[in-house]
Amino acid sequence: MTQYVYDFSEGGMDQKDLLGGKGANLAEMTNLGLPVPPGFTISTEACRAYMTEGKEPDGLSDEVSEHLKALEQARGNKLGDPGDPLLVSVRSGAKFSMPGMMETVLNVGLNDESVKGLAQVAGGDERFAYDSYRRLLQMFGSTVLGIEASVFAEALDALKADRKTGDDLDLTAEDLQGLIETYKGLIAEHGGRDFPQDPREQLDMAVLAVFDSWNTERAALYRRQERIPDDLGTAVNICSMVFGNGGDDSGTGVAFTRDPATGAQGLYGDYLVNAQGEDVVAGIRNTIPLAELEQVDKAAYDELLAIMQKLEHHYKDLCDIEFTVEHGKLWMLQTRVGKRTAEAAFRIAHSFATEGIIDLDEAVDRVTGAQLAQLMFPRFDSDAERHLIGKGMNASPGAAVGKAVFDSQTAVEWAASGDDVILVRRTTTPDDLAGMVAAKGILTSRGGKTSHAAVVARGMGRTCVCGADELDVDTEAGQFTAADGTVVKEGDVISIDGTTGEIFEGAVDVVDSVVVRHFEGDEAAEGDDLVRAVTALMDHADDVRRLGVRANADTPADAARARRFGAQGIGLCRTEHMFLGERREYVEHLILADTPDEQHEALSALLPMQRDDFVGILEAMDGLPVTIRLLDPPLHEFLPDYTELAVQVAIEEEHGEDSPRTHKLLAAVKRLHEENPMLGLRGVRLGIVIPGLFTMQARAILEAAAARTAAGGDPRPEIMVPLVGDPQELELIKAEIIAVAAEVEQETGTKLTFMVGTMIELPRAVAVAGRIAKSAEFFSFGTNDLTQMTWGFSRDDVEASFFSTYLDKGIFAVSPFESLDIEGVGLLVEHAVKMGRKQRPDLHLGVCGEHGGDPASIHFFDEVGLDYVSCSPYRVPVARLEAGRSAS
Ligand code: ADP
Ligand code: MG
Ligand code: MG
Repeated sequence: MTQYVYDFSEGGMDQKDLLGGKGANLAEMTNLGLPVPPGFTISTEACRAYMTEGKEPDGLSDEVSEHLKALEQARGNKLGDPGDPLLVSVRSGAKFSMPGMMETVLNVGLNDESVKGLAQVAGGDERFAYDSYRRLLQMFGSTVLGIEASVFAEALDALKADRKTGDDLDLTAEDLQGLIETYKGLIAEHGGRDFPQDPREQLDMAVLAVFDSWNTERAALYRRQERIPDDLGTAVNICSMVFGNGGDDSGTGVAFTRDPATGAQGLYGDYLVNAQGEDVVAGIRNTIPLAELEQVDKAAYDELLAIMQKLEHHYKDLCDIEFTVEHGKLWMLQTRVGKRTAEAAFRIAHSFATEGIIDLDEAVDRVTGAQLAQLMFPRFDSDAERHLIGKGMNASPGAAVGKAVFDSQTAVEWAASGDDVILVRRTTTPDDLAGMVAAKGILTSRGGKTSHAAVVARGMGRTCVCGADELDVDTEAGQFTAADGTVVKEGDVISIDGTTGEIFEGAVDVVDSVVVRHFEGDEAAEGDDLVRAVTALMDHADDVRRLGVRANADTPADAARARRFGAQGIGLCRTEHMFLGERREYVEHLILADTPDEQHEALSALLPMQRDDFVGILEAMDGLPVTIRLLDPPLHEFLPDYTELAVQVAIEEEHGEDSPRTHKLLAAVKRLHEENPMLGLRGVRLGIVIPGLFTMQARAILEAAAARTAAGGDPRPEIMVPLVGDPQELELIKAEIIAVAAEVEQETGTKLTFMVGTMIELPRAVAVAGRIAKSAEFFSFGTNDLTQMTWGFSRDDVEASFFSTYLDKGIFAVSPFESLDIEGVGLLVEHAVKMGRKQRPDLHLGVCGEHGGDPASIHFFDEVGLDYVSCSPYRVPVARLEAGRSAS
């Protein structure tokens, strides 16, 4: 029979799948000999069985009884015993941490009788006992019985208002006793039943509630956002209670072994005297910095520091912890490898590697391309004019500018209609998640770096300033007032700096980040700590990676930037812009030409201009490959809009000014109109039906190469034919290119080195990839088109229409245009790679779609053996890092 329940002493940190993160780490700490209150864990397997069977799995109840008995023996008292009650917490804990997403119930085991016992054992401290009981009623009511938390909060607020206080601590034992009766009434009224007095029934109900909390809407939303699978389930930890709310020699806190915002070493945490669990995180009262615990309780403080050091060494990483001091005795309630900002991730990984605690492979593995991308975000310009209206804690870095909104729903609505918004709240709760996802930044007036807003924002990479307590936030009125009297109303633009915690009125200008300045070659950036960490890890990634990284760049300036960012060539140089602007006129000539001579004339006019463009790009990428795509888009994109032109012609006719040329142009535009341009006359098809077009482009490229060679350069053009579906298409064009190359060599007396290859972007090209490879020297996967053609939808049309529904329903975990659909499109890529290489073992393979800059896709491209990925210049460092992570 399956074992569902494990004592804390039975597990370890590697068992997150089975015990969840919290359970595995509680077990690890227990076995390290740290002071963890004894307890046991109900496995995720039990939760999965519960979810599939729709009821508690057989045997679970007996196993819980056994472990409970052992726990009672160890603690020397019984669950909910009226004289001396053992109390427990029932805590959710999935494999991946989902902060605040699921539920925990504290003080399970209290009832009308045992609360008296608790008071007695606590030396007659009734206030403490009743405070604990009212908390149980509150948590049980909302978590287990599903009653709105505000129902209890309002009753508590009303009582405090009546007692003319804002602080829970001013409530007396009698007050709390009254509150308990009120709560019991509210439970009966809203919960459909009385509060269960039987301790074991409380426990069992709480366990099932934790199981059920896996499937709440907000938990599901969080998982989708974080790409956590839906079927893992959660474990449940039953942990004997320790009390931080028993007086001034008690308290509870959270801490990080390093600063999760910057990675700096030091003391980071918050402590709250005379408080229980959730109080710290909920930002209910103002906490003191952890360092001040030294004055409050030196012994507990020293022990805590020693434990934190031990944990950091043991986990070889930044840890965050929850602890409680009960009458001077320290208890560890949770630890895990802590979430951190992008900046902190790089600093910490580098610092652990420098200290020799981890090696560079491991260090590179601990940072992500997404984090590097965050470090490349622009910052506020400190020289710009700005009006500082407040300062809070720098909870999650970045520079966010947007319209202030005061509730989650407005944030979602405004963002959907294209506005940048900053979500402003007093504190956030899991109910605000949708708004936090939609917002550019989050600003709160209460709560520290460990508040819900801060933790979630860091996890999502959202800019966040929290605990700006001099702001008076009035969410009902939809406005906040700053200390200097500035009033910011819903819709007013503000700027928040998550790196400094500053809040500005209006939009502040932004400047490049130090990391980007470093990549751009700014020597002043060298001395920066963060730059040093990034450089060290990037160097290692470059050393170990197999996959090459090129850039998509169409101009010499982009090519030069890409090179500074570490690109090893250009994987896609589009040529369509070479037909735009003032060159449009020649394209019109080309399309309107009646005779081959006229056509030739138009092309000859375009040739020198394009040649000059190519010279610039080949120069910027001297010595590195430059893949140039021959003209791809439908021709009508270069012609006037049909309706506009028709109106123009009508007006001209009216005035008797119409010319044969405009009539002809109108006819041509009409003739070239297509219902589905994406599936129409484009790509190689253009080259085949417009004689001389591709020859002209090939000539411009090859003449540019000859000119570069003559100038002492080392040009390496690769001519790429788009949208090939059949080998014969490529063969026809290739023959033209070879012929023109021979001519150019003859004319210039220069030996040319170049390649001819094709894009693989049609499912048919995949099917016949082997035969295409006979004439193609390289394949470049155009994964944008390949995705469109495989799914049969066009990106321009569908992203705004049904994608959000598909994402909501989980048909896509993420847009297939953002991250490669590995199962579908990936299969095609794999097949083409295999057939292509079989035909031509030295076939060069790359990818030039958006996916070339997407971390998950990069790992896939590395695995299937592509030679390189190509992405936009700003993604090049990200791709280098991810290619390194894929190899290390
Ligand atoms: P979360 O995952 O939301 O942090 P936890 O299960 O860690 O939820 O518990 C919520 C709060 O209650 C935390 O502050 C935790 O430290 C505290 N807590 C949990 N179990 C106990 C216990 N046995 N004794 C005292 N405090 C507890
Ligand atoms: Mg916790
Ligand atoms: Mg394409």
